[in-house]
Parts: sequence; C-alpha cells; structure tokens
Amino acid sequence: MKRVVGLTGGIGSGKSTAADMLAALGASVVDADEISRGLTAAGGAAVPALREAFGEAIVPREGALDRAAMRSLAFSDPRARARLESILHPLIREEAARRLAAATGPYAVLVVPLLFETGFQAGRLERVVVVDLPEELQVSRTVERSGLDPREVRAIMAAQWPRWRRLQAADEVLWNGGGLGELRAQCERLHARLAARAGN
Ligand code: ADP
Repeated sequence: MKRVVGLTGGIGSGKSTAADMLAALGASVVDADEISRGLTAAGGAAVPALREAFGEAIVPREGALDRAAMRSLAFSDPRARARLESILHPLIREEAARRLAAATGPYAVLVVPLLFETGFQAGRLERVVVVDLPEELQVSRTVERSGLDPREVRAIMAAQWPRWRRLQAADEVLWNGGGLGELRAQCERLHARLAARAGN
C-alpha cells in the first residue's frame, strides 16, 4: 500500500501552502477540506442527509450547505456539531480512501485541518507532519487571508488543539514562522526523504 503522510496544523498555519509545494515536487495530495466542500456543495452526496438533520435554514432546498450558518450552529451547539461530524466524516473518509488508492505519486499527503481533534484516519497514517508558527503570525496571516476579525480568529484557534499539544503529537514539524523560501526548503528535504523511502 502507498505510504500516506498526514499534514495538519492550526487555521492559517500554512497547510495548503506546504501541500502545494509538496504537490509541485511530485507528491499526491488529498485534501479533506476540499472533499468536504464537494460533499456539501449543491448536488453533493452529503446534502440530503444534512438537510434532513438540520432543515432548510441550514441547507436550502435544491441548494448547497450554508457553511457560515452551519459553522455558527456547530460552534454554539456541541450536539449539532457531533451530528454534523457523524454525517460528514464517514463520507470524507470514504472519498479520501478512494483518492488515496488512485494516487500515483511516490507517496501521498493527506491534508486534514482537524486531524488530531477528530482522530481522523490516524491508524492509516505512517506519520503526521505539523505545520507550526508563532500564534501572533498565525492570527495576522489568517486575518489577511480571510478578512475575519482577529478576535474571531482567536476564537477559532481556541476551539482547536493548542500549539503545544499539536507539537507534542507531531512526528515531524514544518516550521512556517519564516518566509516562503524557508518553507519550500523544508518541503524539499521532507519530499526527498519520503520519496526515497517509497516502495521500501
Ligand atoms: P492553512 O491552509 O493552514 O489554513 P494557508 O496555506 O492558506 O494556511 O496559509 C495562510 C495564509 O498565509 C495564506 O494567505 C498564505 O498565502 C500565507 N502564507 C503561508 N505561509 C506563508 C509564509 N511562509 N510567508 C508568508 N505568507 C505565508
């Protein structure tokens, strides 16, 4: 079976940036968030079950999941969050497994934002790479990218694992407190190691 490496990190840490760099080097990248967006878009496989569970205020008839409405509901109501996850996670896992089986690179990278928080596929992953950076930088990059208020970003961060816990659980760390060149150099070294071990 192809080697699968998990890639995670807090919001705005640089997961997508690192995944793009690894993909450019030849890794097969599967992104759980992208799968989730597909499942919850109009006509997506999760839409009927989500409408049944949450009603048309959250999933308008013939429409896609209203992600902002769902996010605020899940944020304020742990039972709604658990229900959402029980619908979405099995479908994400199934589609991720399908994409990983079809991957053609020397190894695959599975990007999962809340990998530790949800215990996502931890058993199948050979190792977990964490993208890390100082919290201040994480806030400022996320604000710049999303236009969210810094307080909203901090509230999202507070609902995710704290930095120390993520670092403690990491098998490898990509340090993204520097520039893009520094991140790329680390991705090149990681890629060289993983590609060299492919098939061993
Ligand atoms: P994530 O996928 O973890 O949410 P992104 O990869 O989207 O994070 O990065 C968050 C933002 O920070 C993006 O706008 C990205 O372009 C920017 N970014 C990521 N790494 C760096 C870096 N080393 N230097 C400057 N900007 C960066």
